Amino acid sequence: MKIRSLFLFLGMLFIVACQSTVQEEKKSNDSTSNEPAIVNTENFGIVIHGGAGTILKKNMSDSLEAAYNAKLEEAIRTGHEVLKNGGTSMEAVTASINIMEDSPLFNAGKGAVFTHDETNELDASVMDGKTLNAGAVSGVTTIKNPINLAVAVMDKSEHVMLSGKGAEQFAKEQNIPQVDPSYFYTERRFQSLQRIKEKEKTELDHDGKTAFMDPFIKESKFGTVGCAALDKHGNLAAGTSTGGMTNKRYNRIGDAPIIGAGTYANNATCAVSSTGWGEFFIRAMVAHDISALMEYKGLSLQEAASEVIQKKVPALGGDGGIVAIDKDGNVAMEFNTAGMYRAHMDKNGTLNVKIYKE
Ligand code: ASP
Repeated sequence: MKIRSLFLFLGMLFIVACQSTVQEEKKSNDSTSNEPAIVNTENFGIVIHGGAGTILKKNMSDSLEAAYNAKLEEAIRTGHEVLKNGGTSMEAVTASINIMEDSPLFNAGKGAVFTHDETNELDASVMDGKTLNAGAVSGVTTIKNPINLAVAVMDKSEHVMLSGKGAEQFAKEQNIPQVDPSYFYTERRFQSLQRIKEKEKTELDHDGKTAFMDPFIKESKFGTVGCAALDKHGNLAAGTSTGGMTNKRYNRIGDAPIIGAGTYANNATCAVSSTGWGEFFIRAMVAHDISALMEYKGLSLQEAASEVIQKKVPALGGDGGIVAIDKDGNVAMEFNTAGMYRAHMDKNGTLNVKIYKE
């Protein structure tokens, strides 16, 4: 009887040992296959913005509104597809942003606003919530998709931010597509610059303020693009890309390429992309402050976003908004302006595209 039990015990041990060997083999095969690495069924989601500002229905034609809705939907579906297929949050962020950068509707890539000198100077940044690594570029004039250069700065250089000619030299070495600066010309943005310059002449002479201080600068920014995503591996990422503010001078740089102001991601809390009056977003360190309120004060994403966008930024005199997603897939789309181009898709593919306040 005792011998029978011993054999039974040894037999069971043998079966368990065989099973774990099969599992080990499966794991090592997986790592060499072209299929995405182990994809779990965790939550995932993506949220984008196409800029915040004085966006009013009464100023929008039906066809322009339809064009914005269609482009936002295309951008978010593109990023969502990446996530659904097990891609990383950083891949989803860049895929969504590339769609908006290539569209003349938004103030990023093609469609960027004009500087006072009638040029286009682009800024962008990305941050990886898992590694807390980040990349940014500012004041570039020939990069078709600045967000891709920001990723290259993060992945292929030992720096976080490159600017101007140096950034373009780096882009060349990394084979990042460059275009003639005339690529960024759009009649709509050029006319906006002319209108603002006209106003500047008449109104500023009157009260003697400098262009940078005048309140109508509020109307000079529209359409920065950004994205925040959570992937199936539990990793967060965020990115932001912009042409900055119409009529900007002196190589002015806004919040979009500043890590902690325009973009922030941390797997412990959330991923955030900002849009708005950059000077105030830099001073309020908007994106990092939202993360910090969650980390140090235990606020929810929505509570933290409201605190910063509805209280801290307006208290300084600034305006704008953010989109953000937290480590559990909760989303915030918070703004204190009349509207913000925005869209969200969750793991079930439920789509939410909006422009105005409800
Ligand atoms: N934040 C951008 C900047 O100040 C502008 C915008 O978001 O519309 O450059």
